[in-house]
Amino acid sequence: MANRKYIVGNWKMNGLREQLSDIVEIAAIAEQNSQVDVAICPPVTLIAQAAGNVPGFTIGAQDCHFAAKGAHTGCLSAAMIREAGAKMSILGHSERRADQHEVDSEIKAKAEAIHTAGLGAIICVGETEEERDAGKAVDVVCGQLEGSFPDNAAATWLTIAYEPVWAIGTGRVPEASDVEEMHAAIRGKLVELTGEGADAVRILYGGSMNGGNAAELLSVPNVDGGLVGGASLTAEKFGPIIKAAAAI
Ligand code: PEP
Repeated sequence: MANRKYIVGNWKMNGLREQLSDIVEIAAIAEQNSQVDVAICPPVTLIAQAAGNVPGFTIGAQDCHFAAKGAHTGCLSAAMIREAGAKMSILGHSERRADQHEVDSEIKAKAEAIHTAGLGAIICVGETEEERDAGKAVDVVCGQLEGSFPDNAAATWLTIAYEPVWAIGTGRVPEASDVEEMHAAIRGKLVELTGEGADAVRILYGGSMNGGNAAELLSVPNVDGGLVGGASLTAEKFGPIIKAAAAI
């Protein structure tokens, strides 16, 4: 049986209080398309207000620390983001892997901390353009997945997002056949790592998804949803992606 589609908006470092109305509108569209799971991950400054404004809708974070507490200036624990109102967190986004030098073992520890706090996690994996051109994309992505895969992983709380780095924010999207090949490889790796429960772990595609290409990307075998950056910032742009997922 196909998994329920999961459409997640990553607002990155975008959004002030005046953008909260977009989350209210997005939550209303999600409610009208209830066969799809939808979440928005705004900057942490908006989590509490967003969660208060739309109590039945999933608000997530974009990162958390792996430690429960301590001397980590500027960081937030899983319990802190939960208390703010987050139900899940994106982890290991390629921008954090590049800018904050996050490595697989750290992402694995973050996922375990998220699970301990009772939240959901989306672990991001993806190759650079150089790695794809060198024919190493599948090996790189499966290696990241293995290295960042948490102990006690289960589909009830864990999602994987395949995001080719060269497709993020560029308007470039891989061929459907390349997405299919990669998602099949990730599924195969999940079978190796988790055994029987692997089919229920959702694998999202991310990278320049928009209202125009969502239907095609979301129809690719083993694509269980989308992780969306730029096109998630307004209800006008994000709504068509939710509706495309609902129509599949
Ligand atoms: C992302 O950063 O997760 C992403 C997919 O961004 P965009 O949709 O803007 O490419």
